[in-house]
Order: sequence, then structure tokens, then C-alpha cells
Amino acid sequence: MFKFGCSPVTDLEDAMAFARHYRLDLATPARRSETLRRVARASAIVHFKYVEPVDDSSFLVRSQSQLDTQYDVYLYKGVWDCNCPDPCPWCKHILACLWWRDQEEIFGLTASQRMLEKYHADGRPA
Ligand SMILES: [Zn+2]
Repeated sequence: MFKFGCSPVTDLEDAMAFARHYRLDLATPARRSETLRRVARASAIVHFKYVEPVDDSSFLVRSQSQLDTQYDVYLYKGVWDCNCPDPCPWCKHILACLWWRDQEEIFGLTASQRMLEKYHADGRPA
């Protein structure tokens, strides 16, 4: 389970499923942990509703650290691009757009719905 502040935003299994779906870098334990952290941050961005779709292929994504900053994320000819300073081709803003767009396709339910279901299945009080 990944938490941001006191909000659980995704669990490890879902982060792994997402990383495998997009063939993100899970090659070594260090890269796997970096990738999963990035995916967890992306899911948090979606969880806190910082992804604003402009149209089918462009999004505005608000920065988590500087709330007055937002990045433009585009899908153009099958390639994602983001204007943030992160040199990684899969920055958390791009991953957040993918998470926003594809989570129901990847998980069946949204990751938040899955978390709720698991939570209740454990028999703990809501
Ligand atoms: Zn970015």
C-alpha cells in the first residue's frame, strides 16, 4: 500500500499490474522500486484530481509540489510528451494521464474501487 499523507492511493499489486501493462522498467530491484514509486506518485496525482483532460490527446496536469504550476501532456502520433523538467520518458505526469485514462481497462474497476473492495473484504470497519 502506498500512502500520501494519510490517504492510501494504490497498492503494490496494482502498481505492478500498471507497470507491466506499459512495460515500464522493472529490470533490477533498484529500477523496479523507482518505477513503482513513480507509478504510485502518478496514481496519487489522479487520486487528488490533478489531471484535467483537454481533449482525447492532451491534458493539463497540476504539479503536486507547486500548486500554481501545471504541465502540458500530449499524445502525438503514438508518443507521449510532457513539458516538465523530468528527463525520464515516462514522467509521473504522463503516467498519471495513462492511469486516469486506462485504469478501468487495466484493473476492471478503478484502483480506488478495488482498494475499497479489498478494505471491506478484510472485514475492517469502514
Ligand atoms: Zn512530466
